[in-house]
Amino acid sequence: MRKRCLLGWMLMSGMAVTAFAAGGGQETDFSKVQIKATKVSGNIYMLEGEGGNIAASIGEDGIVIVDDQFAPLAEKIQASLKGLGITDKPVRFVINTHYHGDHTGGNAPFSNAGSTVIAQDNVRKRMESGGTGGIGPGGSVHFEHKPAEKAALPIITFEHDLTVHLNGEDIRALHFPAGHTDGDSIIFFPKNNVVHMGDDFVRYGFPFIDVSSGGSVQGMIAAMEKATAQLPADVKVIPGHGAVSNLDDVREFTKMLKDTSVVVEKALKKHKTLEQMKREKILEPWKKWSGDFVNTDAFIETLYNSLTGTKGDFRKHN
Ligand SMILES: [Zn+2]
Repeated sequence: MRKRCLLGWMLMSGMAVTAFAAGGGQETDFSKVQIKATKVSGNIYMLEGEGGNIAASIGEDGIVIVDDQFAPLAEKIQASLKGLGITDKPVRFVINTHYHGDHTGGNAPFSNAGSTVIAQDNVRKRMESGGTGGIGPGGSVHFEHKPAEKAALPIITFEHDLTVHLNGEDIRALHFPAGHTDGDSIIFFPKNNVVHMGDDFVRYGFPFIDVSSGGSVQGMIAAMEKATAQLPADVKVIPGHGAVSNLDDVREFTKMLKDTSVVVEKALKKHKTLEQMKREKILEPWKKWSGDFVNTDAFIETLYNSLTGTKGDFRKHN
């Protein structure tokens, strides 16, 4: 899969980025994007195009998808699902893992085509109100998003968890508060032994944690540990972005989050400023995780804002 700047995704999804850490987003010509469908396990497929990975349960009752990329791709996504030749039945449900536009951009066309969009309460709230996201007030990654049109809003929302009983499987969406955002769900396909982790787990290096939207590194660590503890050892993991992974990959990611947090916490105890932490390159041992979007400095800033208690607006049940 081509490497793609997340800021590019946000810009394409109508979010205005006012300042950013690194890497400009390239404009995407959606007419050139091809949707690639890969079988993950049993009747679960992963679709890649632009934006977040899509999981699809395809079977005798119809289709359930997790996330829907961008509006201009909706027809191609529909065609790709049909092209698998498994069912002529429609996409009955779309489950959003979180509110960001590269995961919910297709909501309106899917709902106009008859799908029911489901998401955690805070996803609808953030889409409805519009607002700002980023790695914290004054952060180097900062963006605004406009209120979504009515057709794009999830019409079924849940606080803690929700199960869709379709295609012989109990497809379960479970809310993990305050990880990538405050509205993240991880979606479990227990019969097929597959899980879609949304942007709580990504493969592009240091993760983007939307601290301004209620995300936190502590919450992301907690989500990964809690999810990992209840998953079978051989589960197939669909990340928010990147290739299908396994639990070892998730554990390595979680360990990186914990180890880097400890380093920043120690620096905070020594009353170091954010600028000092960057200048001293305190995350140098983890530089292989530095990416185009979230480079090492932006991740130090994420941890700094997260660990000093910068919070978003809507908090949360537990
Ligand atoms: Zn996201």
